[in-house]
Parts: sequence; structure tokens; C-alpha cells
Amino acid sequence: MAPSSRATLSIDLDALAHNYHVIAAEAAGAETAPVVKADGYGLGAAPVARRLWAEGARTFFVARLEEGEALRAAIAQRSARIIVLDGFVPGSGPRLAAAALTPVLNSLDQVAAASQFARAASVALPCVLQVDTGMNRQGLGRDQAAALTQSDRLAGLEIELVMSHLGSGAIPDHVRNTQQLAAFQAVRALFPQARASLAASAGAFLGPDYRFDLVRPGISLFGGGPQERPDPRLRAVARLEAPILDIRHVGAGELIGYGTTIAAEQATRVALVGAGYADGVIRATRRGGQAWAAGALRRLYIVDMDLTVVDLGDGLARPGDMVELLGPHALLDDQAQAAGSIAHECLVRLSNRARRLYLGAEAA
Ligand SMILES: *Cc1c(COP(=O)(O)O)cnc(C)c1O
Repeated sequence: MAPSSRATLSIDLDALAHNYHVIAAEAAGAETAPVVKADGYGLGAAPVARRLWAEGARTFFVARLEEGEALRAAIAQRSARIIVLDGFVPGSGPRLAAAALTPVLNSLDQVAAASQFARAASVALPCVLQVDTGMNRQGLGRDQAAALTQSDRLAGLEIELVMSHLGSGAIPDHVRNTQQLAAFQAVRALFPQARASLAASAGAFLGPDYRFDLVRPGISLFGGGPQERPDPRLRAVARLEAPILDIRHVGAGELIGYGTTIAAEQATRVALVGAGYADGVIRATRRGGQAWAAGALRRLYIVDMDLTVVDLGDGLARPGDMVELLGPHALLDDQAQAAGSIAHECLVRLSNRARRLYLGAEAA
């Protein structure tokens, strides 16, 4: 019997390093700049970024100002460039400057606020300019970006990087990719001094046209395939395991757990596993998700707050044996698909109830 019924989340920093080098090789010629927002996709921005620094990463992206401040404190090397995707939120200038964070400018308002701050402080403020090329989310309009170059609105700002984001990068032959690529090439020509970045994980695997000077992978660093399905080149970084607490028999047609829909098709044995949605197993994975138990992938019946029920069939297992709910067998993209979601969400939902274990060194 396991000494504790608690689940274990192991985070394999060697697998992370492997994935970083796979992406860096795929995007050869461009800088590979890890995205470690949302606490490194839930896996710990500090250990993740320290290891990626040791592997050669020098530029990191976060979403929030606070994430940037925490990352700056966690990475001793002041020369790491940390870019904040939320950008120049009004009033954030002093804190961005104190932590040497580079804001992304996502709108004309942000451009104005950043320029005003830079002029008042008499500094040249390094910035990233985001232009919307067809995703219709963040970024200046293309006409706005073009007009900027004809104005003095960039006074005090040093645009180091021009970026945009693909909306359909996970679908390689989608027409929006080529449309966004063409739009981005035009935008880039407006800012010849700046470096350029279009690709996240998906785009980094779309071929040389999409790489530009810098790629911004997040999910593929953590093992999620660039096309939202398992990619054998990438290794699982997160592994969630929990012990079998009990094994029970269920008769043919009997309902299992809450509700009236989930029944055993035939008489079977089920394992009660000590992890549930409070540990980050997405409840919707009961519709088609699988767990690795007794040496095989086996059907999940239910995911409750503290328990997951797995069909053992005739598999040999005893209470105390570990079951993998996410990891090198129960693959991130497959679990995400079963849950009707994407790998990103499956990772960030992993909670702190599971005991965390880091494998591999933080610094090489
Ligand atoms: C989150 C994010 C990324 C990383 O995306 P992945 O799909 O995880 O690789 C890159 N760029 C921007 C602007 C993002 O918001």
C-alpha cells in the first residue's frame, strides 16, 4: 500500500530540455523563446525557465505583469529578456521598468501610454509591437501600424520586435495561415529595424516561412503536439499518477457513480484511483479518456472530485499500485481531446493537491 493516497505530479525537466531542442532544431535559424505564462503552463515557471536558460533560452514570454516580476526574481541572470504579453497596462510603467520587463504594445492606447512614460522618464523603452494579422484578438490593426510609422507616436520607444499570432496554426493547410503570413510580411516591412515573430508552437512546425527571427513555443515544450495530437518527437513533461485505493466488482449494466448514464457494458472489475478533478483530472475525460493501469490503457468511467474510476477488466492490479492519468502513456493531447479541450487547459488545471516532484536538474 502506498504510504499516502495523494497523487503525484512529476515534472520531467530532462523531457522539457529534449522538447526545447526538438523545437530549436525545427526552427533552426530563429531564436526559440519559451512562453512560460500561467506559471509555466501550471508546471512551475521558475524551475522550467531556469532549466530552459541552462539549455540556451535567453528570451521568455509571460502573460501578466506579476508573472514577469516573479520570473525576474526567479532567474538570477539579469540579461534574460522577459516579455509581458498583456503589455503596457496603464500605470504599470514603474513596475515594468523596475523588473526590466519588456511590454508588448497591443493597441494605440498602449503605445501612447508607453511613449508618455518613456518621455517622462527620459529613457528609451524597449518594446514589442503586436499587430493583428487576422486572428482578431490582440494587436494593432495593420492600418494603425502603418500610420504609426508616419507619426511621432513612437517617441521614446525602441521597437525591438514586431509580432503577430496565428489563429489556425494547428491546421497546416488552413487558408488563414497563408493570409496571415502575407499580412505579417507586409507589417514587418514597415519596421525594418525590428526583429519579427509570428509562430507559437504550431507555427514553429509550419516550415521556414513562418519562423522569422524568433519563435514563441509554449505547449510543445511541455509535450503537446503542434497539431493538437500526440507528436512522437516530443516527450511528456507532466506525469500525474495516483494509487489504487480499492478494487471492486461491477455487474453488467450497473450504473457507476453519480448520475444515470455511465454503466458497465459487461461485468468487470474497476479500480478506485486516488485523484480527481480537484487534482486537475478534467471531469469530461470520463467520456472517452483513458488511464494507464496494470500495463495497459484502460477506460475511465468517472472522474469525481477525489476519485477516478478505471475499468481494470482482467488486468492484474492491487490496491497501492499506481495508475497514470496523464503522462507518457495517457497522452496529453489524447486526454485533452477526450475532454473536448486542448492540451494547454489540461496542463494549467493540474492543481497543487498532488505532490510535486521535479525530475532532472534545474540547471544543466
Ligand atoms: C500563449 C501564446 C503563445 C504560446 O502558444 P502555444 O500554443 O502554447 O505554443 C505564443 N504567443 C502568444 C501571443 C501567446 O498568447
